[in-house]
Amino acid sequence: MSDSYDVIMIGAGPAGYVAALRCAQLGLRTACVDDWLGADGKPALGGTCLNAGCIPSKALLESSELYDSMQHHASRHGIGVNGLTLDVPAMIAKKNTIVRDLTGGIAALFKASQITWIPGRGQLLPGRQVSIALHTGEQQTVSGQHVILATGSRPTALDAAPLQGETIVDSAGALDWDTVPRRLGIIGAGVIGLELGSVWRRLGAEVTLLEAQDLFLAMADRQIASAALKLYGRQGLDIRLGAVVKATQVTGNGIEIQYQDGTGAHLLAVDRLIVAVGRRPCTEGLATPAADLLLDERGFIHVDDNCETNLPEVYAVGDAVRGPMLAHKGSAEGIAVAERIAGQNSEVNYATIPSVIYTHPEIAWVGQSEEALRHAGVAFRSGIFPFAASGRARAIQSSDGMVKVLSDAASDRVLGVHILGAQASELIGQAVIAMEFGASSEDIARTVFAHPTLSEALHEAALAVDNRAIHIGKARSRTTDG
Ligand code: FAD
Repeated sequence: MSDSYDVIMIGAGPAGYVAALRCAQLGLRTACVDDWLGADGKPALGGTCLNAGCIPSKALLESSELYDSMQHHASRHGIGVNGLTLDVPAMIAKKNTIVRDLTGGIAALFKASQITWIPGRGQLLPGRQVSIALHTGEQQTVSGQHVILATGSRPTALDAAPLQGETIVDSAGALDWDTVPRRLGIIGAGVIGLELGSVWRRLGAEVTLLEAQDLFLAMADRQIASAALKLYGRQGLDIRLGAVVKATQVTGNGIEIQYQDGTGAHLLAVDRLIVAVGRRPCTEGLATPAADLLLDERGFIHVDDNCETNLPEVYAVGDAVRGPMLAHKGSAEGIAVAERIAGQNSEVNYATIPSVIYTHPEIAWVGQSEEALRHAGVAFRSGIFPFAASGRARAIQSSDGMVKVLSDAASDRVLGVHILGAQASELIGQAVIAMEFGASSEDIARTVFAHPTLSEALHEAALAVDNRAIHIGKARSRTTDG
């Protein structure tokens, strides 16, 4: 006989563990199956996000930025730093402590919420039964009134650059190096490539990013992406666009990368290489053929707008389904599904999910880009405010970048906000709230912001939509017909 629950989660990343906690809050008897093993070989909750993604990367971005500031910027504040040293193993150990504390925190929340944590690999059987290959080597079967699939994603492999020990690694491997490579190659100049490239560049590596696409950060607003590309270049990130990697060879002297771009074939020699060419859903073998779970052609679990799969009372959330591969998107879906199971009428507003790139300066946006609006034939107005004109940005010596507000030409409703600048990841929350409440640019313009803050740049960009930004000399507003 199998144990039975109201809800069984497969996967305890930010989609699955958040769904589990919300289910427990709603009084549902909940179990969560997860196969992640932490650095110490013990089961760990939190999935990619906590163990090998969002959190460890941000910990290293913070440490490396501090080192970079001490080295290059402290003197501008009149602070002399002599005898600065770098202890990479200590930096990695600090990152591991943060991860351990946070994953332990989820375990404590599970315990307090009486969620049954089953460490092992789950497989969906017909009739909402889940068979689990336990980490202990035993097999267990549980059954649920409802099942939520939240198995996340893993790095996409590249045939031209097979992983090799500590020399050619994926994103997870690049979070654990205990020495700084002299010459670092990165295949892929997307979000993960740029963040990891920033970490190792700040610690002293010469970093070259090879990006197959001709367009830099194709998903971002063009004006923001072009400005960011220049700033990254100034930091020493050598970003080569339209560069398709054909082969790699590990030699006694490092790695030789053969790649092709518009000008011909090239050879790049590096000491270590990160493959960061995207992620694919973890769905192979997730369900037995008899369970008949429908996947799409790219292996994502097929779901409707409410995260319902083709099977009754079986849901799927997070990276394993369509949409942006972001922790907060998965958590929002997990909460909505838990609430729907409990009979509430919850849904996710996909139009206001923010995206962030945690480089310096950061990039963050919500809603539509200029290009997307043009493509859709929407007439819009745009207001831009450069951080160079912000008193606070000057005071913190971080005046690169801008805020850009796009609003509907007829109704003035905000359609998109794009930020390149310090703390963009924090500032974008204000724009998300504004859009969630259907604000117009005039609503933001009439709001009083504290002085001196970086948020004033959002205020000024909203004022600029109507040509009345205070701290810029010439009008920045533009109206574009759809
Ligand atoms: P995951 O976090 O991948 O969790 C899925 C869990 O399910 C894992 O523990 C996995 O082992 C387990 N699992 C899979 N199959 C099975 C099975 N059959 N049985 C049992 N368990 C199974 N996103 C952001 O929003 N912000 C960021 O700053 C950010 N930074 C990132 C940095 C890096 C380096 C990387 C790699 C990713 C980053 N992401 C970031 C993306 C983010 O990590 C993912 O979007 C998020 O983790 C997806 O959550 P999830 O719950 O869907 O899946």
